[in-house]
Amino acid sequence: MTRAAPGPEAPHSLADLRALIIDIDGVLWRGDTALPGLAAFFAFMRERGITFRLATNNASLTPAAYVAKLARFGVHAAEEEVLTSALATAAYLRREAPGAKVYVIGEEGIQQALREAGLRVVSEEDLTADIVVCSMDRGLNWTKLSNATISLRRGARFVATNADMTFPTERGITHGNGAILAALSAASGAHPTVVGKPEPLLYEMALASLSRSPHETAALGDRLETDILGAHRARMPSILVLSGVASADEAARAACPPSWVFTGLPELTHAWRSALG
Ligand SMILES: [Mg+2]
Repeated sequence: MTRAAPGPEAPHSLADLRALIIDIDGVLWRGDTALPGLAAFFAFMRERGITFRLATNNASLTPAAYVAKLARFGVHAAEEEVLTSALATAAYLRREAPGAKVYVIGEEGIQQALREAGLRVVSEEDLTADIVVCSMDRGLNWTKLSNATISLRRGARFVATNADMTFPTERGITHGNGAILAALSAASGAHPTVVGKPEPLLYEMALASLSRSPHETAALGDRLETDILGAHRARMPSILVLSGVASADEAARAACPPSWVFTGLPELTHAWRSALG
């Protein structure tokens, strides 16, 4: 175990934590490959009554799809335990622009969340959207980029589920939604409102549904500029695992350091079990 200098938000010990807000990609799995210690970590949390929300910037999947993917890896979770930037974006737009016409670059996770929030998702040929929402889309193509660009140049508002520049996969670290936002900004001159981490909305929604205070809840993630920075802004302690994007060197140099650093879930589970005695 390596431990960074605790920030002002850090409790004295892992034993003081009662809840976690857990990132998914790079923490639980890479692509379709579970990371080591996944099932044992969830068994430990259930055994010790540590409540959690899975809170991800990845808007491509629905909560039901995340629950099904976890089940394939031997982990039972409820849909209510999953919060995505798609749900947070839908909640934001339901409040800010109820019933608006939305052109979406994105997969089923964001499409379903927007429809369920009463937004009108327009077809690919429709260039009259009030809002362009951009999210991870593994079917991204020239037509989608072109439609989004034309809509933005005509004055549509620009909203993004997240701005992660990179994305961890089994094949290596590849482009994230932030890289696509950069392309759309270059072509349109428009700059997006970003909903996901490190912006506060996702962590605020997770904390509200956990009914825990920020000081007894930690954020667990693999990225300094989203998971850990978002935790600092929410005045929560944070745990970085090195199984995803961030390296130990980057963690040591971070302006907003995590409260704890572990190589991955097995080391975290072991340390937490030891702290509880
Ligand atoms: Mg991650």
